[in-house]
Amino acid sequence: MPSHLHFTSMTMGEISQAQALPLIGIMGGTFDPIHFGHLRMAQELAEALNLTEVRFIPSATPPHRDQPMTSAQQRADMVALAIADNPLFKLDTRELEREGYSYTIDTLQSLNEELQGQARLCLLMGMDAFAGITSWHRWEALLQFAHIVVATRPGATLPVSHTALDAWSQQHAIASAQLLRRQTENGILKQEITALDISATKIREHFAEGKTPRYLLPGNVLEYINQQTLYHQS
Ligand code: ATP
Repeated sequence: MPSHLHFTSMTMGEISQAQALPLIGIMGGTFDPIHFGHLRMAQELAEALNLTEVRFIPSATPPHRDQPMTSAQQRADMVALAIADNPLFKLDTRELEREGYSYTIDTLQSLNEELQGQARLCLLMGMDAFAGITSWHRWEALLQFAHIVVATRPGATLPVSHTALDAWSQQHAIASAQLLRRQTENGILKQEITALDISATKIREHFAEGKTPRYLLPGNVLEYINQQTLYHQS
């Protein structure tokens, strides 16, 4: 089995072996801070896709956005606290240990090399992240390394019509979660989840306005934020 997962030119035996492989969800993000929107999405997708594990991978230097307000270590600490009681969820700090920009494609490639063909990857993301994917480094090559699973809210569509993205999504569309395993080529699945209108931006705004973000994120994460006086609390 190759060290990464290209499912072309395989024999029938290799195809059925690929279909029996466990699926691992990859949940990247800044997590500044992690909140119930992230956790609920990971939980619902894990159940819908029958994932054996979801890896939370905080990004060190995100190429596409403002730099985080907290250190890499603090964001990793918050993720560790948030997922501590869920045996399915794991923290993976490889992007924090790497120099320079965190490119998702490099992360997926290194994970595949480590897994040595013993599992397939599903890159999990919200529709907002997917809408911006064409600005990611080597975005069209992402499918060489993982399925892409886009968590959608009921009735949600791409916010703006984007020809390249629309064409790519249609060309690689996977119709149902069951087909993720059966299909030997990686593809793009849209999966409905419960809409939770929570964002890290809103949580940071709550702090800035002197309001509490209680009940938008786990209590132990909020305790950590207060102990460390993060997000401009005085
Ligand atoms: P910020 O507000 O700082 O941009 P965020 O809350 O969107 O942060 P990120 O760490 O940027 O969180 O997002 C990581 C991933 O989680 C992305 O794929 C994003 O689409 C997804 N995500 C964030 N919030 C939600 C939510 N409420 N429901 C579903 N997915 C979410």
